[in-house]
Amino acid sequence: MKFQGFRGGVHPPQAKNTMECATVRMGIPEKVIIPMQQHIGALCQTMVKKGDTVKVGQVIGNSDAYVSVPIHSSVSGTVTAVSERIISGSNPVVCIEIKPDGLQEVSEDVKPPVVDSKESFIKAIRDSGLTGLGGAGFPTHVKLNPPKDAKIDTLIINGAECEPYITSDYRECMENTENIVEGIKNVLRWTGIPKAMIGIEDNKPEAIKKLKKAVENIDNISVHGLKTLYPQGAEKMLIKTLTGREVPPGKLPSHVGCLVMNVASVAFVAEYLKTGMPLIKKRVTVDGSSVKTPMNIEVLIGTPVGEVFKFSGGFVSEPAKIIMGGPMMGISLYSDEIPVMKYTNALLALNEKDGKIPEENVCIRCGRCVSVCPMNLLPFDIDRLVKANQYDDLDKYNVMDCIECGCCAYTCPAKRMLTQSIRLGKDALRRKAKK
Ligand code: SF4
Ligand code: SF4
Repeated sequence: MKFQGFRGGVHPPQAKNTMECATVRMGIPEKVIIPMQQHIGALCQTMVKKGDTVKVGQVIGNSDAYVSVPIHSSVSGTVTAVSERIISGSNPVVCIEIKPDGLQEVSEDVKPPVVDSKESFIKAIRDSGLTGLGGAGFPTHVKLNPPKDAKIDTLIINGAECEPYITSDYRECMENTENIVEGIKNVLRWTGIPKAMIGIEDNKPEAIKKLKKAVENIDNISVHGLKTLYPQGAEKMLIKTLTGREVPPGKLPSHVGCLVMNVASVAFVAEYLKTGMPLIKKRVTVDGSSVKTPMNIEVLIGTPVGEVFKFSGGFVSEPAKIIMGGPMMGISLYSDEIPVMKYTNALLALNEKDGKIPEENVCIRCGRCVSVCPMNLLPFDIDRLVKANQYDDLDKYNVMDCIECGCCAYTCPAKRMLTQSIRLGKDALRRKAKK
């Protein structure tokens, strides 16, 4: 099959230094800090209070809202605080701090779910606490239950992992191949979707080979090597590349008959159906110019990032910037007490040179930001309107379609902070819509 690809995109240095680093399991940290919002959707209410004892896999936060998932304890121990903290952005989130007892006693509620229908499958996935593990954090059970009039004919499995540095999905493909295939089979079986396509960038030939071998006798699962081009792993780009379909502005993949899941998410589905252990741990790539030993680590959710860096051997130089996620779409952290969350796939510590924020210059109207934008936007115009506080005009520029991939800022010779500007514009439009 000939793939059509998508418009725009950039080629940042790949820096996949940890591709051959098999995952190492980190032990129990001195404390875990578990935020009550680690997903897109409604905030969870706390189900425990200070002084309570908790067990591994116990629900400690939940919500009645449909677009939300429960949050589970990753350790056994005692709740030492329930308090608001700033995690990212400016809004405080309630967090549960737990001092582990070191025993890792598992909750009696942890048992394989009984699944015998689509409804019970979707309920099980919600109960598991699964949100997209590729970094977006969208509750998976919502994806698996699209509107009745949406005819989904293709399950797309995202193994592209196009951001520099990050190799956690690559390690998933290499170390957990069987669970990926089993998870896909489960999703196909219980949702009735007829086929699955796995997409992996062609800079990971070993993962492509391994998965192709694993599905060689399965008619309805195929593996496809994709051109290495950022942001190949963005949902809309992946759909366009693999199926040629374009998700219209403001619409979801279900609108064009697709459902997209990450490789780690489907592998988790297989594991959860067998064991009933909810989402309490995450594979995280640790890398960056300040890091002594780049590696892939399996971390308990809630572990402060400072502890993870310490486990990897600490720093060779004082980091000027710590990023959760990749350098293109990740968020800068203000403290190493911020915990690893469900959507954390990488932690980067950058030295003075790599972490420096360049000085912005005036736009020279070169148009490069326009030519690389995969969403066909006009980043320089949006930036101009935001800087001039002309938020009312932003609607006309489809600013809400921006996927915040950072291609425009990456390519800009004037070092304009275009993505930040566009984020501000989107925030302003959201506030306006709320009013
Ligand atoms: S790439 Fe930078 S300098 Fe060129 S048009 Fe866009 S904002 Fe202006
Ligand atoms: S405008 Fe948005 S979608 Fe377009 S390149 Fe910039 S960040 Fe990416």
